[in-house]
Amino acid sequence: MPDPAPDSSPRRRAPRQPAAKPSQPTTPPTASPESLPFPKDRISKLRSATLAWYDTHGRSLPWRQQQDPYRIWLSEIMLQQTTVAAVIPYFQRFTIRFPDVQTLAAAHVDDVLRLWEGLGYYSRARNLHQAAIMVVQNFGGQFPADVKLLQSLPGVGRYTAGAIASFAFDLPAPIVEANTERLYARLLALQDDVRSSSAQKQLWQFAESIVPARRAADFNQAVMDLGAQVCRPEDPNCPQCPLLKCCQAFQSSLQHVLPRRQPRTPITLISELAVVPFQNKRFLLRRRAAHERWAGMWDATRLEISDERRQQIPCPPSHQRSAKPRERSLFPQTAALLDPTLQQQIADQCGALPGILLDSMELTYSVTRYRVQLLTVLCEVSGSTTKRPDTEWFTAKDLASLPLSRTGRQIADWLQSFRERGGSP
Ligand code: SF4
Repeated sequence: MPDPAPDSSPRRRAPRQPAAKPSQPTTPPTASPESLPFPKDRISKLRSATLAWYDTHGRSLPWRQQQDPYRIWLSEIMLQQTTVAAVIPYFQRFTIRFPDVQTLAAAHVDDVLRLWEGLGYYSRARNLHQAAIMVVQNFGGQFPADVKLLQSLPGVGRYTAGAIASFAFDLPAPIVEANTERLYARLLALQDDVRSSSAQKQLWQFAESIVPARRAADFNQAVMDLGAQVCRPEDPNCPQCPLLKCCQAFQSSLQHVLPRRQPRTPITLISELAVVPFQNKRFLLRRRAAHERWAGMWDATRLEISDERRQQIPCPPSHQRSAKPRERSLFPQTAALLDPTLQQQIADQCGALPGILLDSMELTYSVTRYRVQLLTVLCEVSGSTTKRPDTEWFTAKDLASLPLSRTGRQIADWLQSFRERGGSP
């Protein structure tokens, strides 16, 4: 999974507005620093050096201009598994369309998913919508200034709760995410696999021990920026690091070795077939069920198939291995058909028996540890169809407003180009 991206062109941060402290802030418990392999007497130097560096080098990001908990929460959810550069335009569009938590809570989930389209990990968008409803219904439209209550919101884990509590309310809540995990593991010269529970426990204890009571928001943003810009994964810039004197990895010449991680699970290649039935100038799509990947989004009917079986699907050579629209797209004269077993499997899922293959497209995409080779075929349906509650016929024009996954949108663009090129049985 990608870390939040280092900002390649760091800018000075905007001046911080005075913190709007809650009347009774909830302070998380502080861990005993004695149990950590970090000298207690260096903590105050670490804090002052970090804040001094941040005052000069902190990044200016759209969600740092003020302390609105809604915008901070939104940015933190978007930044999960996604780079800063990718998030910025989504954040800007989202805050124009949904300027506050009330507007988001009142929206239809399809509108939220449509705006999220392309950002991936769509459960985040569904949780975001649910959390907005909870904030409005349970907390009177105000985000709670309490780490535990924030963690009760869907999609808000320990890190995100700490980020909202510190960035929005200036509470001394600890944070550990990809950049701070690497920074802390090096400061501590932590030898364990950073994903292990023992290492995570030490990292969180360390984060608790160093977050200051004053300027907690600036401090947490500073350590994230230090990790992103100075203590970089492959080439830590130790000579320019304000924490050089208290870094145990540097003192042991381990900065290029740490943090240690178990090798990731190898990538597995799989093949998928996506079928789009076509009849009366309309395409049949199905809405993905709550337990499926991309739940709630519209999609072609998909099946995982063996690579051998994929090779047997009759597609002319000119139609292979391209996600781009083809100049010669129609081949009804071949009267190619899927084999009867596949036809029946598709019919069982979407209620339409696919007939002649009209067009095809191949693309590849990655999901978690899988690399998927996806063959999409457009099939004429000549007979009657069975209406199912999770399927709908759409015109090419309808496709633009539907919430779709990234590959779903590529399929939709290809279907639209099929219609624009006059494609018709
Ligand atoms: S001295 Fe080097 S390894 Fe240590 S925190 Fe700074 S950049 Fe990272």
